[in-house]
Amino acid sequence: MPVKRSSWWGGALGLVTGLAAVLAWNTHRAGSKQLAVAPLPGLAVSPLAAQHLAQALQFATVSPEDPASFDPQPFAGLQQFLARTYPLTDSLLRKEVVGKYSLLYHWPGRDSTLAPVLLMGHLDVVPPEKPRRQVELEVRLGHGAKALASNWQEPPFAGVIKNGEVWGRGAVDDKVTVIGIMEAVEQLLAEGYQPPRPVYLAFGHDEEIGGREGAVQIAKLLQQRGIHAEFVMDEGGIITHDKVPGMARPVALVGIAEKGYLSLELQVELPGGHSSMPGAETAIDVLARALVRLREQPFAAQVSPPVQAFMDHLGPEMPLGQRLAFANRWLFNPFIIKAYEASPAGNATMRTTIAPTILESGFKDNVLPPEAKATVNFRILPGQTADEVEAHVRAAVADERVKLKRGRFVSEPSEVSSTQSYGYQAIAKTIRGLFPQTVVTPYLVVGGTDSRHYRQVSEHIYRFMPVVDPIGFHDVDERIKISDFENCVRFNYWLLKNL
Ligand SMILES: [Zn+2]
Repeated sequence: MPVKRSSWWGGALGLVTGLAAVLAWNTHRAGSKQLAVAPLPGLAVSPLAAQHLAQALQFATVSPEDPASFDPQPFAGLQQFLARTYPLTDSLLRKEVVGKYSLLYHWPGRDSTLAPVLLMGHLDVVPPEKPRRQVELEVRLGHGAKALASNWQEPPFAGVIKNGEVWGRGAVDDKVTVIGIMEAVEQLLAEGYQPPRPVYLAFGHDEEIGGREGAVQIAKLLQQRGIHAEFVMDEGGIITHDKVPGMARPVALVGIAEKGYLSLELQVELPGGHSSMPGAETAIDVLARALVRLREQPFAAQVSPPVQAFMDHLGPEMPLGQRLAFANRWLFNPFIIKAYEASPAGNATMRTTIAPTILESGFKDNVLPPEAKATVNFRILPGQTADEVEAHVRAAVADERVKLKRGRFVSEPSEVSSTQSYGYQAIAKTIRGLFPQTVVTPYLVVGGTDSRHYRQVSEHIYRFMPVVDPIGFHDVDERIKISDFENCVRFNYWLLKNL
């Protein structure tokens, strides 16, 4: 039946041509979202600045897991160091100490009626070693004792400068931000600059353990004073050369949202007894089955709004294949999700993650334990809530003998900040002005930052530092290139100068 076949072919050809036209049109329409900005003039940073960073690293401002081992001395030392190293900032800005060790500076603007800008950082660091039990395990399993402080190439609190890098715990997370801001402000004050709008600098001292005494208190104070910030800037995003697949140019990742945090303890109690006569089901059986069920029923993958924004900004800068896929997500979403799911980092941006982290039961080889417990950590995608996560767990486990208990620290996912705001535009302009080759894109931060506590202070919260693929974040041999640190100074300088 040659006639019929040809009309079938004709129809199919028409469909394909139509589809191709739609794909091409969408791809064409998704033009570049990169701001055209004139390069910023060069700014000399004093060689003393890197030495100041190295000196700041010598204060072992550790936030320990166990509050009892908190040592206040280094925090007091760092406070005095900042006061004497940045005398103009210390005298011309109004300084308040909050929660004993956190710092809040207020720089009055030329127009006090304008909404202020708030720059954040944190003074504390994670311990240079992982918990002892973890290190012992890693050694026993042959994974190497990477985490031992003695395995650092340079002592973590020596503040050594070598090979153009500043070494030590806190170099990346997050003293580079604090010192980068202080250097920029001091230099601007020396030039007699006053910002057009008020500026606040907020440095918490317990970010690594939740921020309860620091950022939470500062945010509360600002709220009591009726201060509503135009935008808030915190750590979280970086510049990467290799972490965005398919992208040849460097990408500046500006966090416009961060995931939430919840831990649930799953607990099962069943009568124990002698192991010579086990019942049909033990506490360990019930718990094990619950964990398997939970892991087999992951949260649905979805392209949440911050990831959509990421694709909208990145797509137009990518090679044709990815450009086409990102511009036609109505058709390619399943493939995009599949590609992202393949790596743990990509997967974490696509769904609420489920990570069993602690398992506890039993005390003797011939006794049936009456209790079995597991802790599962969840990182919640924006748009979901801790309550929804808990409901999903109950439904997946589907066993009333498994009791759920929330961990001490719960954080809902952040709101998603706009890319159209004054703040995002100011940040993007500064990045493009300093690094003209760099593609600026919003993205989702999968970890947590102190900025989560500022949602009442501003709806425009951004997370970024102009550091290129940092090394040693929460690991041994943390260090930062002096050139990266100097760019942090320049970034803050121009951001403040062009407010
Ligand atoms: Zn940090």
